[in-house]
Amino acid sequence: MTETTRELSAAAGELIGRVDGPVYTPGADGYDKERIGFQRLAPHRPEVVVGARGEQDVRAAVEFAAAHGTRVAVQARGHGLGAPLEGGVLISTGRMTGVRVAPHERTAWVEAGASWQQVIEAAAPHGLAPLSGSAPGVGAVPYTLGGGVGLLARRHGFAADHVRRIDLVTADGRLRRVTAQSDPELFWALRGGGGNFGAVTGMEVGLVPVARIYGGGLYFDTAQVPDVLEAWRRWTQTVPEETTSAVAMLPFPDVPQVPEPLRGRHAAQIQICHLGPAEEGERLVEPLRALGPLLRDTLRELPYTESGTVFDEPDRPHAYRSQNRLLADLDPGALATLTRSAGPLVPVMCVVGLRHLGGALARPPQPANAVGHREAAYALVVLSPVEPGEEETVRAVHRDVLAPFEDQALGRSLNFSFGPLDHDQVRSAFTPAGHRRLAALKARCDPGGLFHCGHPIPPLAEED
Ligand SMILES: Cc1cc2nc3c(=O)[nH]c(=O)nc-3n(C[C@H](O)[C@H](O)[C@H](O)COP(=O)(O)OP(=O)(O)OC[C@H]3O[C@@H](n4cnc5c(N)ncnc54)[C@H](O)[C@@H]3O)c2cc1C
Repeated sequence: MTETTRELSAAAGELIGRVDGPVYTPGADGYDKERIGFQRLAPHRPEVVVGARGEQDVRAAVEFAAAHGTRVAVQARGHGLGAPLEGGVLISTGRMTGVRVAPHERTAWVEAGASWQQVIEAAAPHGLAPLSGSAPGVGAVPYTLGGGVGLLARRHGFAADHVRRIDLVTADGRLRRVTAQSDPELFWALRGGGGNFGAVTGMEVGLVPVARIYGGGLYFDTAQVPDVLEAWRRWTQTVPEETTSAVAMLPFPDVPQVPEPLRGRHAAQIQICHLGPAEEGERLVEPLRALGPLLRDTLRELPYTESGTVFDEPDRPHAYRSQNRLLADLDPGALATLTRSAGPLVPVMCVVGLRHLGGALARPPQPANAVGHREAAYALVVLSPVEPGEEETVRAVHRDVLAPFEDQALGRSLNFSFGPLDHDQVRSAFTPAGHRRLAALKARCDPGGLFHCGHPIPPLAEED
């Protein structure tokens, strides 16, 4: 039976002595710091927060939620918040940041709250790197549960393709060590199916022998943006798998923190990560550099520990919403609409990002996993900071931005969905067969719907 939120708060005392980490209820010092992560729009509002220090804390929190007939959500660093939890128990994994590298096996054991930067720093002394993404502050475990398209993606595939083992607490309160041998179906689902099946306490991931990359950004001014977008599209059709790249169209605010040449400009930023000698990288980017005057050029050889400078994304928490599409191809006509639909004249600020996919991303791993739409050639993401009262306008602008691309859309990526999604939207992240398999497993593993996941797998409907 579900308890009232007041009864749940009162019962939180039961956790003291059972968990090592702190327990917070609304109004307590530290409650807000724990529940509000990087994404500031509509954060979780739990009745109890457990600041887990280890797997036994996670288990105690899950058992507590189950015993009190309430729901449980997990948050690492809060970049990927989907639907917020109202009431119930939030497990905050921000204290579980351990990373252990096994250099000879080329693997790392990563606890649930570790950021990619922490994994990168631990792997670097061994000449190794994880399949991390553009923003090193993002949590490695949530990123990987959602698939994970990173800087080395075209050469090495999804982060989820490199997972060896996942430990999690399931709805029955059991701590499971899941591998391809121990539980093939759950192992398939956890790699790409998001946080639907339990509270993950840690995972073993494969590392790749990468110490240095050639990478950075090329920045072009407003008038060049349409030509740069089209030239980048054509260029991506010529590059090897060793080259992973993206282009963003974005306004740079006129503030001192922004490098002088970019301040107040609406610019295009090509972001490149090339695995290979710097001279090869220099040759590859020649056609891009030749596109015209550059506002800024940060391309260079760099250690992977500085890979966060390739995209150079803001690391200050803020409120935002996004939409995305995984595209079979990139239509030049659709591309040409972006300067109108997301340019300086639209009523809300838009950051449009296009990532080049393909290469190893398109090849199914062994063993297979739940990542959907591997065949996508590009990902298109539109993101806007959101001020109070702006959400409806932002939604309308994003619809307008995506409309010309719908013909080539295969579906969406859950990792790049920053906000709640409805059933059809979550379903579109997977093939129909993939969704049926995930929904059947969810019904088996968590029949009472104990876990509140940011992007919940919809139950099977008649038409499924
Ligand atoms: C600036 C920025 C850059 C990004 N770059 C990339 C990129 O290059 N490639 C890419 O693929 N993605 C990228 N993302 C998306 C990112 O991978 C996801 O948003 C990821 O979930 C964020 O990690 P987090 O620790 O902040 O997650 P959180 O917001 O803490 O968690 C996200 C969701 O994951 C689930 N979850 C979290 N921890 C657990 C757990 N221990 N067990 C079970 N479920 C759990 C929950 O459902 C939770 O709602 C980016 C996001 C941002 C904001």
